[in-house]
Amino acid sequence: MMHNYEPPIFELSAPGKFGANLPQLDVPASALPDHLLRGDDLASLPELTEPEVVRHYTRISQRNFSIDTVFFPLGSCTMKANARLHEEAARLAGFAAAHPLQGDELSQGALQLMYELQEYLGEISGFDAVSLQPAAGAQGELTGILVFRAYHLDRGDHERTEVLVPDSAHGTNPATAAMAGYKVVEVKSDARGNVDLADLQRKLTPRTAAFMLTNPNTLGLFEEHVVEVARLVHEAGGLVYGDGANFNALLGIARPGELGFDFMHYNLHKTFTTPHGGGGPGSGAVGCTATLAPYLPGPRVRRMEGAGGFEFFTPEKSIGRMKTFHGNFGMLVRAWTYIRSIGAAGLRKVSETAVLNANYIQARLKHVYPVAVDRTCMHETVLQGKLAAAPEVRTLDIAKRLIDYGFHPPTVYFPLIVPEALMIEPTETESKRTLDAFCDALLAIAEEAARDIETLHQAPTTTPVRRLDEVRAARQPILKYDAEVFAKLRAEGVQG
Ligand SMILES: *Cc1c(COP(=O)(O)O)cnc(C)c1O
Repeated sequence: MMHNYEPPIFELSAPGKFGANLPQLDVPASALPDHLLRGDDLASLPELTEPEVVRHYTRISQRNFSIDTVFFPLGSCTMKANARLHEEAARLAGFAAAHPLQGDELSQGALQLMYELQEYLGEISGFDAVSLQPAAGAQGELTGILVFRAYHLDRGDHERTEVLVPDSAHGTNPATAAMAGYKVVEVKSDARGNVDLADLQRKLTPRTAAFMLTNPNTLGLFEEHVVEVARLVHEAGGLVYGDGANFNALLGIARPGELGFDFMHYNLHKTFTTPHGGGGPGSGAVGCTATLAPYLPGPRVRRMEGAGGFEFFTPEKSIGRMKTFHGNFGMLVRAWTYIRSIGAAGLRKVSETAVLNANYIQARLKHVYPVAVDRTCMHETVLQGKLAAAPEVRTLDIAKRLIDYGFHPPTVYFPLIVPEALMIEPTETESKRTLDAFCDALLAIAEEAARDIETLHQAPTTTPVRRLDEVRAARQPILKYDAEVFAKLRAEGVQG
């Protein structure tokens, strides 16, 4: 990728350039009232032609790494390809232009889709009831913990003040528990990457409200004692929350509702192909047992008695809304389309292929990049950027160098319990050829590291912006154009 230097759009500006072709005024001109007039000049608005503006935005869009341009094996994020069919369904006028206040009788198609998606997600995961409200996995977690609290309090059980979270958990788990007002208690992992049962038993008390478990966990490993874990938590009077972010490993193979979980969230933007990244809308629909169903957020959708058709309802003891209107409806359309277009057998194939792909990568790389726990993995593998032939190299160097080879880096330094972690999730939508090219690149980088570590320290060298000072970028982000700042940065050799 070569980028010729282009000045920021503000520097292309010249007085009088104009990009729009406006028609003649066909009504009498009238003066605006004084109080609506702007007091000072819009000095900073650039004046440009249309092609200049188009080129500016197109160029910026091409600087992005995306699933539509490169392999994106970002562990835990399930960056599978988003089929164009799903986009087309979401853009059907009856869905895209539906107004959330237009009333049930004019929204029967949308309601049917929501009802069926509730049913499908419940069936795939083994739960009795589903709410499509939450906007993301993290919000699904908060929903679950608030539902747990409502359930405990409803039974007059006021003493439960702690939520147990494994040390391998995603940061949203402890954040959720803390946000819901609970004390977070960490539970250790054992040498095989499972929950350490002895540590769990020590920490389960009459104060335990819940245990939050990800299965497969963030090491990409199936929790071997999941049934035992759920039994122990239930015996202590607690509930088991399932973080469903890694559900892509289990579709059609295992149902969390049958493994002992009481509640889980689905990341529709991970497992069910609704696009994600860049902070766009997601969906963290949730499922639970019949016991917890009365507390779910509404509105949910049910069949009307008698006449047929569908209607919204709010469960009797609902914790209330988590989101305005009906969740991120466009995401629901995409997930429904995905499930319907590949069917039950297709879903199972998705998980089988995702698991096979991850194990293929693990097998090709583990003799050079140590594997965190040497077991058959599920849909992702956690390796380490610790090279015997180049001990001073860091995972960050390897990740940055991968960009020069045309790949998005894997997730790095997560899970926190693995030093120099490289968490690779290929998903099922990649060909063997792509997986091989990626493994070849990582092996070539290991050789480069042994030969000439400077190449890695310099990486990336092919991008418009080189290695960032990440601390400075986070603490002092420059989010708008300032001629002086830009001139100074350019003098320092910063491009882009
Ligand atoms: C992505 C993820 C979450 C949070 O989901 P969001 O939709 O990003 O809020 C929680 N846990 C794990 C393991 C994840 O990978």
